Amino acid sequence: MHLLVVEDEPKMARILRRGLERDGAAVEVALSGEAALELAGLSRFDAIVLDVMLPGIDGFETCRQLRERDVWAPILFLTARDELEDRIRGLDGGADDYMTKPFAVAELLARLRALIRRGAHQRATILRVGTLRLNPATHEAWRGETEIELSQKEFALLEMFMRHPGQVLTRFQLLENAWPYDYEHRSNVIDVYVRYLREKIDRPFDLSSLQTVRGAGYRLRKDGGG
Ligand code: CA
Repeated sequence: MHLLVVEDEPKMARILRRGLERDGAAVEVALSGEAALELAGLSRFDAIVLDVMLPGIDGFETCRQLRERDVWAPILFLTARDELEDRIRGLDGGADDYMTKPFAVAELLARLRALIRRGAHQRATILRVGTLRLNPATHEAWRGETEIELSQKEFALLEMFMRHPGQVLTRFQLLENAWPYDYEHRSNVIDVYVRYLREKIDRPFDLSSLQTVRGAGYRLRKDGGG
């Protein structure tokens, strides 16, 4: 297994690395949350051990940003603190497990193996609207049992619709959410992409789930078009 250990205390990092490597794991160590984000962008890890108290962004924020970047490897928090509030915060923020220092490396390993067995995608929610399904973590979408190939932008747009079924979304809202980085001010971009989407999620199935709401925007029917 390929593990990322995020720990700023050199001694603790050494103990972790040694213990995990003895068990046959390939271990990379990041000394800060920022470094962890960078490493997670470069390679795929089977699991991440994340210290809560870090210089710069803390473990909670690191976890949040990893999930935001679609890194779904199981995350186990390590912390010296054992406050209920921290545990809840960590788990709510997308962590999978929690251990309090001091701990036995053998137990840490056992927990990591259990997390890895559960897999990276299991806790990613699948969105469902009628017969439309979408997995934001794996970027897969289906109409019934048919998988639909979508470009990144089409996917982002459909995800936005599926998170707000039955609601009218303005072109501006759609632009803002589906084009966060290379924002385009041309409002017809959305019209063009809605057309692409209809060609993929509706037309081949003889359905019409994406409705134009004149003067307002677009709406995905609550029943997903049937
Ligand atoms: Ca620390």
